[in-house]
Amino acid sequence: MTRRAALHVCCAPDATVPWPALRDEGYDIAGFFYGNNIHPAAEWLARAEAVRKLAGALDGECEIAPYQADAWFALTRGYESEPEGGGRCAKCVRAQLMASAEFAAKHGAGFLCTTLTISPHKNPAVINEIGESCASSLGLVWINRVWRKGGGFKLSAARSREMNLYRQNYCGCVYSARREKEPASHGA
Ligand code: SF4
Repeated sequence: MTRRAALHVCCAPDATVPWPALRDEGYDIAGFFYGNNIHPAAEWLARAEAVRKLAGALDGECEIAPYQADAWFALTRGYESEPEGGGRCAKCVRAQLMASAEFAAKHGAGFLCTTLTISPHKNPAVINEIGESCASSLGLVWINRVWRKGGGFKLSAARSREMNLYRQNYCGCVYSARREKEPASHGA
């Protein structure tokens, strides 16, 4: 029996490994892109377009949530100067995964996963803990994965180059854009 899973897609490059891998495990994937944490709007547009391109290449579907950056700024007010991986990121990741859980529940998916754990800049234990909490609050099963394991991040970089996907050089929010200048792709 096919198991329907919602996959939180933080960005196209990071989804190039998890999406096919979960399909290979027998999940029927419904992608979901939450982008309120992506600034400025032109950057959100570039990432949303890349997600559409990936979904098309995989012959899959990915919902692009309406862009509501103001709600994200209200959520993270007071946490502007936190370093990456601190309190602002915890709030941001929870907002991303809770929106994804709501999308899953609305679309009849009993399982939920995220592409976020492919990034070498993120703490997969924290992400999986938040994901588990968001999923269980709506009666969903969290698919606990650390996608960067076993060369996952390198593979995602190679695949996104092959597919000519847009690759960003900062996590997503305006605060991370100010800090990061190195050309390593990692999504929010
Ligand atoms: S650095 Fe990334 S995870 Fe952290 S708040 Fe900004 S967009 Fe969200």
